[in-house]
Amino acid sequence: MADHPYAELPPYGVPEMDKLQETREQVIACTKCDLCKTRTNAVPGKGNQNADIMFIGEAPGKTEDRQGEPFVGAAGKKLSSMLEKNGILRESVYITNVVKCRPPNNRVPTEAERASCREYLEKEIDMIKPKIICVLGNTASNSILGQGEITKNHGQTIKKDGRLYFLTFHPAAVIYNQELGSLLEQDIQKLGKILVEME
Ligand code: URA
Ligand code: SF4
Repeated sequence: MADHPYAELPPYGVPEMDKLQETREQVIACTKCDLCKTRTNAVPGKGNQNADIMFIGEAPGKTEDRQGEPFVGAAGKKLSSMLEKNGILRESVYITNVVKCRPPNNRVPTEAERASCREYLEKEIDMIKPKIICVLGNTASNSILGQGEITKNHGQTIKKDGRLYFLTFHPAAVIYNQELGSLLEQDIQKLGKILVEME
C-alpha cells in the first residue's frame, strides 16, 4: 500500500478530519476479488468530502490504473471539460467508480466483482452524503438502479432508498460521438440547475 501513488497524500484537507481515509486504505489494500491480481493500483474515489454531487463511473481504465486516481484519462478530461463549461468545479465534486480496480482490457466488470466492491461504494455514499448522485453510463446504472437504457433514460432524476440519482451518459461514450456529447452537455447543465434549485 505504501507504494500506491497517493496513499500518503491527504487530498481532503486536514488528515485527522479525513473520514474517507480509512475506506481509501481498505480499497488500496483490498484483495476481495480477482481484479486485485491484474491491477497496478486500486483506484479509490477522490474529491471533496463535502461534495453536493457525486459521480459514479464503471471502473478504472488504463490511465487510472497507472495513477491510482479516478477519471484522469481521456474520459476524465471529457468529464472535467463538461463540468467546467457548466460552472461546476471538479474540486467541488466527488468522483468514484462501481469497481475500484481495472478489469483486464477494460472489459465490463462482472456481477461478482461489482458485488465484492459494493461495500466501498456504499461507504463513500454514506460518508459524503451527496445531494445528488450522477450515474454515468449503463454499467453504473445497471449496478446501482437495476436499469440500463441510458439512451432512453438520460437526463432523468430517480429517487431510491432515500437517495436522489441523476442519469446520464458515460463520458467515454461521447468522445467520438458529437451528438451524444451535446446530450451529455445538456444533461450536465440540467444537473447544475437541479442543484441550484435545491439550495
Ligand atoms: N471510465 C470509468 O468508468 N472510470 C474511470 O475512472 C475512468 C474511465
Ligand atoms: Fe477489492 Fe473492489 Fe478491487 Fe475487487 S475491485 S479487489 S473488491 S477494491
